[in-house]
Amino acid sequence: MDEIKEGIQVLKRISPIRKFCMTLPENLNVKGEMDLAQVFRTSMVYPSNLPPMILKDHLNMVLPAGKRPEDMGICFMSAEAVVSLARAYRTKTAGHEKILTVIGKQGTSYRVSATIGTPLRRIFNTFSIHVNDHDRLIIGGPMKGFSTYTVHHPVQPDMDTVLVQDRDTVPELSDNPCVNCGKCIRVCPARIPVNILVRYLEAGLYQDASDRYDLLSCIECGLCAYVCTARIPIYQYIRLGKHELLKLNADA
Ligand code: SF4
Ligand code: SF4
Repeated sequence: MDEIKEGIQVLKRISPIRKFCMTLPENLNVKGEMDLAQVFRTSMVYPSNLPPMILKDHLNMVLPAGKRPEDMGICFMSAEAVVSLARAYRTKTAGHEKILTVIGKQGTSYRVSATIGTPLRRIFNTFSIHVNDHDRLIIGGPMKGFSTYTVHHPVQPDMDTVLVQDRDTVPELSDNPCVNCGKCIRVCPARIPVNILVRYLEAGLYQDASDRYDLLSCIECGLCAYVCTARIPIYQYIRLGKHELLKLNADA
């Protein structure tokens, strides 16, 4: 907590920012007082910890479709980044260490401090995690993560979680059509008609997906894909759709 305060003091010195807020999981016991920032307690239920939800639940601000928090004058930083800033100012050296969670095939998780650039292979070796062909390495956790195809992938400054899935337990995606079970709609925090949206995205109708079915209101929590009965990779379709839409608009 002391280093977070130190980092906030640095931010106050080097930027025009005057208001600081800090979110803490509701069940986390923290030693020390935080007098430099307003503290919000966030629910442990995902996706309460995502920036658009924090804006809505604690600052009473709704992120407009297609906008980022920065467009509203709000910047999110991890506590780790604030601490790194404090250390960099104190020691006059750049921070090279990153703390990440590595989850092995049996679900055991390890907190690791690694130098940025370290190949993941070295971390796996340290914890005797054996990665075989066709095992899946997911960077970023089960909801929003992306796969990497090499154990030589380096630790990066924004890497928080690495998950190793055994090839025998990797859930298969399918090309099954939507069965209209409605789970995706019920779970969506942005209240998007996901079952219809995904049909437009599958058909490559990105502009219609945006104009008529709220593609840009998606906060990319990944819950719809997680619950989908037909195992449609909805989250990936949404990311692709937003990317293609950006390209279309840039071309225009
Ligand atoms: S990822 Fe899916 S569930 Fe999450 S906001 Fe977007 S459409 Fe809704
Ligand atoms: S969860 Fe999947 S199968 Fe069910 S309505 Fe949504 S897209 Fe269709």
